[in-house]
Amino acid sequence: MTGEMQRQPMQVSNLIDHAAREHGNREIVSYWANGQETRTHWAGIRADALKMTQALQALGVSKGDRIATLAMNHSRHLVSWYGAVGVGGILHTINPRLFDEQLVYIANHAEDKVMFYDAAFQPIIDRLKDQWTSIEHYICYDPPEGTDGFEEWIAPHDGNVEWAQCDEQDPCMLCYTSGTTGNPKGVIYEHRSTTLHAISGLQPAAFDFDAQTVMLPIVPMFHAASWGLPWAGAACGVKFVYSAVNEPKILHDLMMKEKVTHSAGVPTVWLGMFQYQDQTGVDLGALRMATIGGSAAPRSMIERLMKAGVRVGHAWGMTETSPIGTVGSPSSDWDDLSFDAQVDQVCKQGRPIFGVELCTVDDDDNLLPRDGETSGRLLIRGPWIIKRYFKADADACDENGWFDTGDVATLHPDGTLQITDRSKDVIKSGGEWISSVELENVAVGCPGVAEAAAIGIYHPKWDERPLLAIVRSPDSTVSVDEIKAYMNDKIAKWWMPDAIEFVDEIPHTATGKILKTQLRKQFADYKLTA
Ligand code: AMP
Repeated sequence: MTGEMQRQPMQVSNLIDHAAREHGNREIVSYWANGQETRTHWAGIRADALKMTQALQALGVSKGDRIATLAMNHSRHLVSWYGAVGVGGILHTINPRLFDEQLVYIANHAEDKVMFYDAAFQPIIDRLKDQWTSIEHYICYDPPEGTDGFEEWIAPHDGNVEWAQCDEQDPCMLCYTSGTTGNPKGVIYEHRSTTLHAISGLQPAAFDFDAQTVMLPIVPMFHAASWGLPWAGAACGVKFVYSAVNEPKILHDLMMKEKVTHSAGVPTVWLGMFQYQDQTGVDLGALRMATIGGSAAPRSMIERLMKAGVRVGHAWGMTETSPIGTVGSPSSDWDDLSFDAQVDQVCKQGRPIFGVELCTVDDDDNLLPRDGETSGRLLIRGPWIIKRYFKADADACDENGWFDTGDVATLHPDGTLQITDRSKDVIKSGGEWISSVELENVAVGCPGVAEAAAIGIYHPKWDERPLLAIVRSPDSTVSVDEIKAYMNDKIAKWWMPDAIEFVDEIPHTATGKILKTQLRKQFADYKLTA
């Protein structure tokens, strides 16, 4: 016996068809690098994506070809997400902040055929064009005046074309991880995984989307599939407000003007916004939901946003997980909790959204209890979790589908996830673990501390002990003793860093994470005494 329901393949083009049909007039606003603002809507995005499909066909692009973008957030980039997939191609979003070596590697490894880019990245194109071996066409989104670009390229077409028909498991998008060691690895999403991930993102416990949502996605379209927002947003007609420039004043002006209700980005975005607020005294307007992920959101940040009446959805995920794995949302007893207890809850990384499963295991792969205490290697499985890296010979998950995230975590009895660290960053002191993430998050709460990074330093007795590198805020004279006094009652006694060093800056990866490998090199000769 079979079920008797209709079999319609899950295709990404269904998302844009729905957005144009049901939410056609919902606006997509773009602030461009030259200060211009443009407006279109979901129906306009679809119409342009169809024209782009024809224009790509005219270039000879066909099913399975990789189509790269090197661009910030704006409507033409959004058009390209749907246009590239619409021709049956594989959208490859490239992070312009990668080092040249990595940019060369990934575009060649992906065998990109066409590259769409922002004028701001013309120097990258000029520098690397000769080393990119497969790219045949370059098209600029916002060319200098008097030159043709994306708009002129799609203009001759009428949009009268069908989307390529794809199998659910056909690939639609390729994102590379920006690992801190070795070559970046490609994660190849499929129509099915992308659609399921988008649908799951619509539960209120995820992004809290509905047709009234006005979202300013600060997470770039080139990082971790932009958390799936361009797909999920289409499914319920979110109004997107994009900025190609990530300056707090510009973002804040847009928030006010467009009455932004939702935002999503990494923690550092909020540090910049808070500084701007402190200088100018402005509030956050209509903002009521901020999804924060990519790194652990510090307690002080969560507290400040919550005091301003903003719900914080603390999310955890990876490029390998499409990327949403968990998101925080109020628990059943939320209203009975004190403010401090609510903040405690939001400091954890939330619960799995429907579709994914988590577990933690020890070094011998034994399943660990969800007791809120034991920490171990975090594994994940589900229909939008990686099976195998692009062009790899072997699966990235075990025979039961479990993918080892490389994170160390604790699971709580209520299902909440608490990330302790990356497994390679955890500080191993006398056989016990110290969470570098926790030390950093406590330290940035100290007045006068702008940023903190903790690493393990060789110690003759304990193996490793924590060293905390601190960047002071502008004009701050905060001292080692003041930082220690601040941290004293907030961490276990034996977690107190053995050394605190002030630095001008902390090295970051292309996606804004602390580059611990670099920091370890910087402090390689540092000596701690027994
Ligand atoms: P990426 O693939 O670049 O998005 O990096 C994924 C990694 O970022 C994860 O494996 C975590 O180590 C880290 N990460 C993401 N979200 C969080 C979070 N909310 N708290 C702590 N770490 C996070």
